Amino acid sequence: MSMKERIDSVLERVRNAAARVGRDPSEIKLVAVTKRFPPGVVEEAVGHGLRVFGENYVQEAVSKIEALRERGYGLEWHFIGHLQKNKARKAVEYFDWIETVDSMALMKRLMRVAREVQKETDVLIQVNISEDPGKAGLMPNEVLPFFRELMAMDAGPVRIQGLMTITRFVASPREAREWFKDLRLLRDHVVEQLGGSIALPHLSMGMSNDFEVAIEEGATIVRVGQALFGPRPTPKTRGELNV
Ligand SMILES: *Cc1c(COP(=O)(O)O)cnc(C)c1O
Repeated sequence: MSMKERIDSVLERVRNAAARVGRDPSEIKLVAVTKRFPPGVVEEAVGHGLRVFGENYVQEAVSKIEALRERGYGLEWHFIGHLQKNKARKAVEYFDWIETVDSMALMKRLMRVAREVQKETDVLIQVNISEDPGKAGLMPNEVLPFFRELMAMDAGPVRIQGLMTITRFVASPREAREWFKDLRLLRDHVVEQLGGSIALPHLSMGMSNDFEVAIEEGATIVRVGQALFGPRPTPKTRGELNV
């Protein structure tokens, strides 16, 4: 299949999943995950109409973003990897969204650097909804206390848009459905408990193998790599593979 055919197929599946639950497909953002793919792949995807891209590693992303910036495509970049505090400034400078805020210390750092560089930054709080010991993110019972603490702070140019999750790997997307639903219900609970003082409109959940189920359960952002671009190139060194 060509890239164009893959993209068309994913977009159609997004539309169909939305239609099954009576949602408007235009409220679902497709983040094309280009980690380990060269800038040429991003450029080809831009040629087929994609504008929103996701990357896991700050350094790798910076070179791609710079390579494409001069073209003036007006791309939107989402950081979806584990963010170390010492990379927060670079992440704010280069990315429009940071989807993986997984601690108060990182949140505070992002607020500080966003204020310093005066950059509006959309963020999501990462939740380890399937309580996978190998994954980052707040545990579900930590989320409400986290938001209560946040509410007392001045976020400056940081806009807290909602929740994000990476679920445990399961063979069948049907098994992931409960987790996606749990994330939505957790979001609803937090918003209600905070008396509607924050909206949290976004839920980033679902990848190549389960984005349709995620959409049926309320995802507004899906992060899709291999279904759009085929198998990802394997990393050159072991050290690179710290996803
Ligand atoms: C790599 C990655 C994706 C995309 O995975 P695919 O299986 O290629 O769709 C989505 N989200 C995160 C956080 C990732 O690291």
